[in-house]
Amino acid sequence: MILTPKQEAIRDVALRFSREVLRPGYQAREREGVIDRKLLRQLGSLGLIGPDLPDRFGGIEAGSVVAGLVCEAIAYGDFNFGCVQMMGSLLGALVARHAIAEVGVAWTRRLAAGEVIFCIAMTKPKGGADAANIQMKARRAGDAYILSGEKTSISFCDQCDAMIVLARTGMPAEGAHGVTAFFVPTDLPGLSWTRYDDLGSKIVGRGSVFFDNVSMPVTRRLGGEGKGFTQVMQGFDYSRILLSLMCIAAAQASIDETWAYTRDRQSMGVAISQHQGVSFPLVEFETMLAGLRQLGYYGLSLAEAGRPYRVESVDGSENRVRCDSPVHPDRWALCRLHGSATPAALARCDGIRVRRRSRADHEIACCTRTRGTRQPHFFTHQPRS
Ligand SMILES: Cc1cc2nc3c(=O)[nH]c(=O)nc-3n(C[C@H](O)[C@H](O)[C@H](O)COP(=O)(O)OP(=O)(O)OC[C@H]3O[C@@H](n4cnc5c(N)ncnc54)[C@H](O)[C@@H]3O)c2cc1C
Repeated sequence: MILTPKQEAIRDVALRFSREVLRPGYQAREREGVIDRKLLRQLGSLGLIGPDLPDRFGGIEAGSVVAGLVCEAIAYGDFNFGCVQMMGSLLGALVARHAIAEVGVAWTRRLAAGEVIFCIAMTKPKGGADAANIQMKARRAGDAYILSGEKTSISFCDQCDAMIVLARTGMPAEGAHGVTAFFVPTDLPGLSWTRYDDLGSKIVGRGSVFFDNVSMPVTRRLGGEGKGFTQVMQGFDYSRILLSLMCIAAAQASIDETWAYTRDRQSMGVAISQHQGVSFPLVEFETMLAGLRQLGYYGLSLAEAGRPYRVESVDGSENRVRCDSPVHPDRWALCRLHGSATPAALARCDGIRVRRRSRADHEIACCTRTRGTRQPHFFTHQPRS
């Protein structure tokens, strides 16, 4: 896909910020475990949060392709900050489209300015893949709804300023049709949360949210009763592509780091990148990423043109799995190129943690930077003597 000069210009601003400002502090921030609000406001002031939102809602009306370019560029330097972009575009659009004007305009403008964070509370305890089977209840009481129940695995749960919550207003037998979306500011009484001790993405902070008879006015409903599930699922078609581009960015960062290392590391009088056994797989990974990236942008250009793009979105989701899986052979091959799995060498491969079990046997927990929240997958590798 050939970018327009405007798209390139916005992408370059995001990439410069990502490389010069975000990347150097990526690992230090991860240890701090919270989103740096100053950086958030800087991103907002550059127009890099929700760039696809309409001007009235705080965006720069730059379109879906630009939303992808920004997500990818930011995730290259800090995958976790990429979540801010992805959530900004997904949830900003949901609120802009479905909230009443007094709520939607004020809140999305603050979102795009980097003053507030939104999160989405959809997943229920014990099984999120069955997404329509939402159990949390929203009971109507006059001009208010009363929310009670629990949501789990919620990104930004203890840092967000407002949540988009999916709750059941209808009967369980109605399935997806009995689900309604609400816009819930987090300063309401009755809300509490716990944070998981995740393996990575600590600055995003995933956890559970508890609603103990949280009361809010009917005006905080997003769209009509029973429409919430469809609204959110349409948004997920879009955010799935953004997420896949974030994973492509993280994979690209790993490949770039590997190229740099293999050009630096000398063996038998030459840089090891001169050996075909080293350079060929790297070129193959580059080719794969280039193809996956184009598919993502094709999907976003279809979205921008108002044409169907679900197939491209689902394929994009497969891309994500391919790029971010810690057990994927490509990832593992990249680790190997960093020096036969010695802990010090593997530490160069960003996001990979190594635990030494014995001298002869290294247990390597590959917590990739893209999906640090997964349980680690352990490889047993015999180091060179
Ligand atoms: C990093 C991260 C961030 C997240 N952030 C959010 C968030 O901000 N908001 C939010 O609402 N949720 C969030 N989630 C939750 C996410 O949406 C769920 O993890 C997802 O829906 C899967 O649900 P589950 O983890 O409960 O797995 P389960 O549904 O319990 O699935 C477990 C296993 O069973 C398999 N399985 C389930 N159903 C089927 C089936 N029908 N056929 C075949 N296999 C099946 C799954 O593939 C999986 O392997 C987040 C999750 C992660 C990992």
